[in-house]
Amino acid sequence: MDTPPSTQQQTVMIVDDSSNNIRLLAKILGKDYRVRYATHGRDAIDQVTKDPPDLILLDVMMPEMDGFEVCSVLHTHATSRDIPIIMVTALNDNASEMRSFECGAVDFLTKPVNPAVVMARVGAHLALKRERDELARANHMLNQEIEERRKLEKQLREMAEYDALTKLPNRKLFRDRLQQAMLMGERNTALFALLFIDLDRFKWVNDTLGHDAGDDLLVSVSERLKGVVRKSDTVARLGGDEFTIILNDIHHDSMAELVARKVLEQLSLPFEIKGQPVDISGSVGIAIYPDDGTNSEDLVKCADSAMYLAKESGRNTFFFFSPEVNNQAVARIRMEHEMRRALDKAEFFVDYQPKVNVASGTLAGMEALVRWDHPRDGILFPQHFLGTAESSGLIIQIGEWVLKQACQDAVEWIAAGFQTLKLSVNLSAIQFHEPERLVDVVTRTLEETGFPAQNLELELTEYMMIKDPEQATKTLNILKGMGISIAMDDFGTGYSSMALLKRLPIEVIKIDRSFLENLNIDPRNKTFISAMVSMAKKLGLHVVVEGVEEMDHIKMLKKYGSDEVQGFLFSPPLGKNAFNQLLQGKIPLGGGLAHPVPTQ
Ligand code: C2E
Ligand code: MG
Ligand code: MG
Repeated sequence: MDTPPSTQQQTVMIVDDSSNNIRLLAKILGKDYRVRYATHGRDAIDQVTKDPPDLILLDVMMPEMDGFEVCSVLHTHATSRDIPIIMVTALNDNASEMRSFECGAVDFLTKPVNPAVVMARVGAHLALKRERDELARANHMLNQEIEERRKLEKQLREMAEYDALTKLPNRKLFRDRLQQAMLMGERNTALFALLFIDLDRFKWVNDTLGHDAGDDLLVSVSERLKGVVRKSDTVARLGGDEFTIILNDIHHDSMAELVARKVLEQLSLPFEIKGQPVDISGSVGIAIYPDDGTNSEDLVKCADSAMYLAKESGRNTFFFFSPEVNNQAVARIRMEHEMRRALDKAEFFVDYQPKVNVASGTLAGMEALVRWDHPRDGILFPQHFLGTAESSGLIIQIGEWVLKQACQDAVEWIAAGFQTLKLSVNLSAIQFHEPERLVDVVTRTLEETGFPAQNLELELTEYMMIKDPEQATKTLNILKGMGISIAMDDFGTGYSSMALLKRLPIEVIKIDRSFLENLNIDPRNKTFISAMVSMAKKLGLHVVVEGVEEMDHIKMLKKYGSDEVQGFLFSPPLGKNAFNQLLQGKIPLGGGLAHPVPTQ
């Protein structure tokens, strides 16, 4: 066998109690190997443990501890087990040779040793050991590689199937689990429920407290959701603030209801996000397999529709899917479809409701209010279609059309001499999703229609529904800079707050009509109106009160110092022609106002 080039690096240890023998063997091996020795068994074991050699030549006959014993000890220790040991036995000692193998030796040499045989045997066993080591190393690396690959695969699988933020199953795994639940259901005719959960006010948290806070909230929500179900159920995050629960193996609908109630309860307990208490709630839709659908597509749609209804009916509630829910969903989709065509077919039109100056009783302006002349359903008012217009985004086009139509109509009235008339147009929060477009459209509309900016007032509701309040504030400032005034509509309800009055470039507040509406039911509303008017006046704001239906209201509002009033007492919203006639004095304003029209 060729001597490999690395032999100089290899160490052979000689263990023998006779220094002559050691010398003899060292001389033979010294040319090709590094040689170490020990003169008794204990020393040999010590040395091997501290610094294992590559091969050991071990004498059998030694005092205290003989070679077999040393060999056995070395063979049982992990560090030395793989070191080849060649026993050196007396000539023709067959029994010793046999024992050598029993103790774990790989070979034996007989004394007196033949140098060529020693070199050949040592060389052969070292080569064998090298190969074995090589194999072990390769094996080890292979195992490592397999382990790493396994880890990577697990990570990839998790990435593909679990949501990185909440560690909940994602949409894909949810689909798989749903499929699985259906297979189980088919086999043993068990019921299972699918819950769709959407957080209310999540957007508000994200917008006002930042995305990190939003992320923290989603993680806390997922923890709470996991807490209300059994281990065998699935809680998944489909994306955004949408979660689902698959409740396996329920015996009755009421179990799904119980969980839905627990979910709502958990979501309405305050969260602590970045050291701050945060209140949200949830809307839940429930679909039951197999009653509501026998394929995953249908079941998901049902739960989603039911959730949508829960949201529409005021949030923080749950709905089971039912044929009515389905009808509503179908109606919504149909309306969206029809609304797209309505713009092209000019089915929308604008009515104008007069606003009256309280002190003088003269006409101060008019609010443009959109209507839809639906070919099948007749005249539809905003409350019937604004929700769908907003959720579909069509409100952007509709709002732009209303602005243009109103400016076109009102510019004629201004040209006819009613220079002080203020035209109010409502803006939807959705229109602030594209702020540049909004500014562009307003600018272009004023240019194209020749309507004077200072006669235009834009009304804003539900400011908090706006995606990016910073950006919206900038946009409002730009509009104000153009000479347009900004009004806060439906003041005193929803999220219209005092803080906004400070922050936004608002010149007008319109006190919501619900205050007058409930005057008889709750006399405190008088106090509210009085306080709101006086506060607004102190802040230098112009005050309009909506929903004036009775003469008594005017007297009261006059006393409180309200600037303008709007309501059925004076006039309902009028079509363009009727409003024209009103301006010309052909039809009177209500409320006993003798000369409502300003002199030209
Ligand atoms: P709003 O801006 O507060 O408009 C006033 C609403 O109160 C109008 O309802 C009007 O008809 C009604 N109203 C006026 N006087 C009285 C009264 O004395 N008593 C009662 N009970 N109601 C009165 P309408 O036309 O149904 O509009 C509802 C809402 O739809 C509006 O509330 C406004 O927020 C929204 N809206 C209307 N047109 C548009 C539009 O072009 N774009 C957008 N984004 N929203 C619009
Ligand atoms: Mg309005
Ligand atoms: Mg209003």
